[in-house]
Amino acid sequence: MKLTWRRFDLELRNRWTISRTQAAGPEAAGGCAIQPVVFVRLEAPDGTVGLGEASPCRRYQESEETVENFLRSVDPVRLDFDSLEDSLAAVRSLAPGNSAAKCALDIALVDGASRRAGQPVHAFLGLGFTEGRHATSFSIGIDTPERMAAKVAAASEYPILKIKLGSPDDEAALRAVREAAPGRRLRVDANEAWHDREEALRQIERLARDPDIEFVEQPMPAATPPGDLAWLKARSPLPLMADESYQQAGAVEGVTEGFHAVNVKLVKTGGLSGGLEALKAARAAGLQTMLGCMIESSLLITAAAHLADLTDYLDLDGNLLVGNDPYVGVSAGEGRLSLVDAPAGEGLRVRLRGGAGDGSSLP
Ligand SMILES: [Mg+2]
Repeated sequence: MKLTWRRFDLELRNRWTISRTQAAGPEAAGGCAIQPVVFVRLEAPDGTVGLGEASPCRRYQESEETVENFLRSVDPVRLDFDSLEDSLAAVRSLAPGNSAAKCALDIALVDGASRRAGQPVHAFLGLGFTEGRHATSFSIGIDTPERMAAKVAAASEYPILKIKLGSPDDEAALRAVREAAPGRRLRVDANEAWHDREEALRQIERLARDPDIEFVEQPMPAATPPGDLAWLKARSPLPLMADESYQQAGAVEGVTEGFHAVNVKLVKTGGLSGGLEALKAARAAGLQTMLGCMIESSLLITAAAHLADLTDYLDLDGNLLVGNDPYVGVSAGEGRLSLVDAPAGEGLRVRLRGGAGDGSSLP
């Protein structure tokens, strides 16, 4: 097989800030304007192609440099669309960590194998895809209350909003969001911001006064002692969802004690195969499930969408926050994910935007 890749800077429509970047100091507090990603292409000798994408996250010790270093370590001769399980295992065994880099190769392998089987990815994985079953939330990053209200007003198409909290201005921010979107369904993501169980409970009790907040994501750091997570779960008036605490299927046992639900992202699980495992493990343990994302192009978002039938919630909006998305795939009109207008046929069902190239091309 031939392996090629391309670095690409996704440009954010608005600067993107969450509690973690804000806590990193004044320089980072303004948020980021660009998310570097790496697109990957595998080509078999018969011309069958598979595409993938890595959106590396510093929270998990990855960057575009670590992704490229990982890709340089791959011997593509060991990869083959016809022996998918062996190829996926070969990618996983190359080095510990590097989940975003593995994610790109894993998706490319599954894409190529699905194309060869003549099936869309979801069918190849034994799943359906229910048109419009879920509405994805649309995320509003941390900003001044005025700018958060303006972002909410611009997102009137989306029936559910996910609000990033965990800054000193949380109360004013939530008030501004509420005034801009009365009665709208909201989800809250604190990204590990609340330091101890008492603070987390105080914040969640305040949030619970709003009857239209569905759940709170990752109130405390992933390193919080399990006893404190269980203490909070026993008292929380709102369901708690694990994101940073649930990176892969293997973490499911610890997560059930402290959370009601999990947020599965392909860049954390190392791609589609790990995402499938993480969703199935969570459901088997009685947890509710959501598919989430980083800032990603429509390639990676569409890959995740193929697993949507295994979820209770969706948060696949990373591509909607980007102004120069090079790919077209799943659409999200009024938040409802649809493959109706995606390129027909097999594999991921994506193509380059604007006519240049096709579903086999890098930007
Ligand atoms: Mg989150």
